[in-house]
Amino acid sequence: MRFESIIGQERPIRFLTKMLQKGIVPHALLFTGVDGIGKQTTARALGMALNCLSPVGVSACGACRSCQKVISGTHPDIITVRPEGAFVKIEQVRAVSRQLRFAPLEGGWRVVIINDAQCMNPEASNAILKILEEPPKRTVIILTASQPTDLLPTVVSRCQQISFRPIPFEKVADVLGERQGLDRQTATALAVSTKGSLGRALSVDPEKWLVWRKHLLEQIGSVSTKSMQGILGFAETLARDKDRLIDALDIIMTWFRDILMCKFSSERLINKDFMAKIQRVSQGRSVNELLKKVDAVYAAQTAISKNANPRLALEVMMMRLCLADQP
Ligand SMILES: [Zn+2]
Repeated sequence: MRFESIIGQERPIRFLTKMLQKGIVPHALLFTGVDGIGKQTTARALGMALNCLSPVGVSACGACRSCQKVISGTHPDIITVRPEGAFVKIEQVRAVSRQLRFAPLEGGWRVVIINDAQCMNPEASNAILKILEEPPKRTVIILTASQPTDLLPTVVSRCQQISFRPIPFEKVADVLGERQGLDRQTATALAVSTKGSLGRALSVDPEKWLVWRKHLLEQIGSVSTKSMQGILGFAETLARDKDRLIDALDIIMTWFRDILMCKFSSERLINKDFMAKIQRVSQGRSVNELLKKVDAVYAAQTAISKNANPRLALEVMMMRLCLADQP
């Protein structure tokens, strides 16, 4: 949880380190970016650095009494609020507000971390706004959210915003190799399909994921041999698997991307374990056909992200994938 051990977020860490070196601590920070890339860990790391009893420069030592409490989640001045059900509720923010009337218990800095701040209901948002309007001393409020547009503009304007980017695939693959013993091919494929979210990649059961991905790629690779009924059936199956739909489309996208990429550089394939098949398919397809397929998958991803009916969007995608095969 020290700054040094946070993976792939050099820019935010540099910013926070400089901030601490200058001795300037804003009273509110907003960490934005997708889930699983280190926003919450960084927020706790900042709390640890601010309270460390024997810091190394501006970094936490990781060993003192205060650091140990932050690591075990028992530091009384590091307050974390998470959504209860779908929302962060007014009662939760009021409870924080009551604590803020008193000085930090351990005499250092108090850090209030509101995770998934986009889940604050309007009453909770207004209560946070009140706190931000009259910030208590030696207190930092850290909000984490996917994007600033998910929050009230009046809340955003009172925070110093720091954006977190997806972690480079190579780094996610390194961690998957080290912690889960995955071979490089599998680790890379999983890192790409979870789009640089280490948290998501680590939450997946690699064996089940491999079986699922293989099935998907085999199905999508044999589209041109399927009957119309088979094609629509596959679209329906995909649409029914709601939790994995976004991931499935990402994997399907890597398939067509690989077939296209193979025409230029087979070194850069993502699905290297399917290399022989990808090379074979790539030889028989024109760049134009393949671009149409990439476009069909992209259109489905865009439509679904805008709340289109998934089954309809997938049926259209599958038909467009088939049509792209015809001269
Ligand atoms: Zn320490």
